[in-house]
Amino acid sequence: MERLSCVHGRKALQAPTGGRVAQDRKTSAMEDVAVIGGGIIGVTIAAYLAEAGRKVLVIDRSGICEETSAGNAGALAFADVLPLAQKGMARQVPGWLADPLGPLSIPPVYLPTILPWLLRFLRAGRASGYEAALCAQATMMRLAEREWAGLTARSATTRMLREDGCLELYESEAEFEAAQAGWRARRRFHIAFQHLQKGELAAYQPGLSDRFVRATFVPGWKTVTDPHRLGQAIWAHAESNGARFLPATVSSVRREAEGIVLQLAGGERRVCGKLVIAAGAWSKRFAAQFGDAVPLETERGYNTTLPVGAFPVERQLVFGRHGFVVTPLETGLRIGGAVELGGLKRPPNYARSKAMLDKAASFLPGLKTEGGRQWMGYRPSMPDSLPVIGPSSRDPDVILAFGHGHLGLTQAAGTGRLVRDLVSGQAPSIDITPFRPQRFKGWF
Ligand SMILES: Cc1cc2nc3c(=O)[nH]c(=O)nc-3n(C[C@H](O)[C@H](O)[C@H](O)COP(=O)(O)OP(=O)(O)OC[C@H]3O[C@@H](n4cnc5c(N)ncnc54)[C@H](O)[C@@H]3O)c2cc1C
Repeated sequence: MERLSCVHGRKALQAPTGGRVAQDRKTSAMEDVAVIGGGIIGVTIAAYLAEAGRKVLVIDRSGICEETSAGNAGALAFADVLPLAQKGMARQVPGWLADPLGPLSIPPVYLPTILPWLLRFLRAGRASGYEAALCAQATMMRLAEREWAGLTARSATTRMLREDGCLELYESEAEFEAAQAGWRARRRFHIAFQHLQKGELAAYQPGLSDRFVRATFVPGWKTVTDPHRLGQAIWAHAESNGARFLPATVSSVRREAEGIVLQLAGGERRVCGKLVIAAGAWSKRFAAQFGDAVPLETERGYNTTLPVGAFPVERQLVFGRHGFVVTPLETGLRIGGAVELGGLKRPPNYARSKAMLDKAASFLPGLKTEGGRQWMGYRPSMPDSLPVIGPSSRDPDVILAFGHGHLGLTQAAGTGRLVRDLVSGQAPSIDITPFRPQRFKGWF
């Protein structure tokens, strides 16, 4: 199987859109706002700030949306309000872990490192914490949906959205019944869905394996034509409003008398008045430099993108029990998901991509599995499934915006709006208390 020339980690520094993006190489005077990270979160924040007339400099080591934001499953999953840590989940974990290529894996050598995060994850699943996180997530999703509608209209990218919903598939009545608590919770937040009988499935997705007996159709779920292309189009909009890009690796950040100083790997330094830390799974050490020890970990995820025409998939298909989805993109058919709690340094294990592709081939008989590109990305994840959005402990001019886990694309526009509010000194459009960086202080 063909692999991407750089499917994970870092690409060599390059112009983000084939040389079109103007790169800022001058040693400047004070920057107005600097953003560390040009993933979908940093780019969307830049778009909002530039629209508001702020002078924004985005700094990224690999380009615009070249890492995790390039290869994700492309869902604007506004219905996905359930925090991952749920009551009773602990009972399922041993079963998942028993399959080394299953939906969840933890390399044994990484277990001691991830253990504190796992304990916080389990604590977040307790009833009161779960309910609070569910409400906060639902509020964030409403904001995200509204803001994506506005941002795609203003950036002329509405054509990059697919509005045909998603189909969650079940292989047994028992699996369908087990999902009902989650659907009831979504109903409380007025999320529309429709349960389907076996005989109705073909109308939503022809050619499915006979093993599927029920499904749930979620009409408000959207997908994008390609997450990498959408990210670059949002950047083009930010750039048209004056945002600039600097290809560089940030080594450290600190407050000095002249402002917030960013030390770059090449020896250059930049000084800014406001700083936004949006470096995805790599944000932890920058947050620590401003007094916040955030329990950020990465949930590594895998996929394979097959060439266009591999199978006529009508809308995103969700195989929840197997932890992966199939997304029809304009650039191919993307099959993947899974969670590997393996940190930022281990090499990828593409047997995971292959395992999901093999399953997909049995779920969609006739799927053409040749010619795929395998990929791995680093979800930036917090134990309670909520992002970190808010000022740092030591410096109100430093805003933290990362930790969106499985939902960074979905929540990017909501995050852009909230960060713009914070940078401009306006009251945030929703209560951001549940997202504050300091919320895990004193847990253990
Ligand atoms: C398999 C998979 C499927 C997914 N599917 C979906 C989905 O369908 N819908 C959804 O909403 N979300 C999905 N996600 C999650 C989503 O991709 C992430 O939440 C999102 O991409 C995170 O964006 P980000 O901008 O925070 O981080 P990133 O995209 O990782 O961007 C961070 C950037 O910071 C830069 N950086 C880091 N350190 C430095 C430094 N020192 N100096 C300079 N630059 C630095 C990196 O180069 C990188 O470009 C999926 C993730 C995976 C892995």
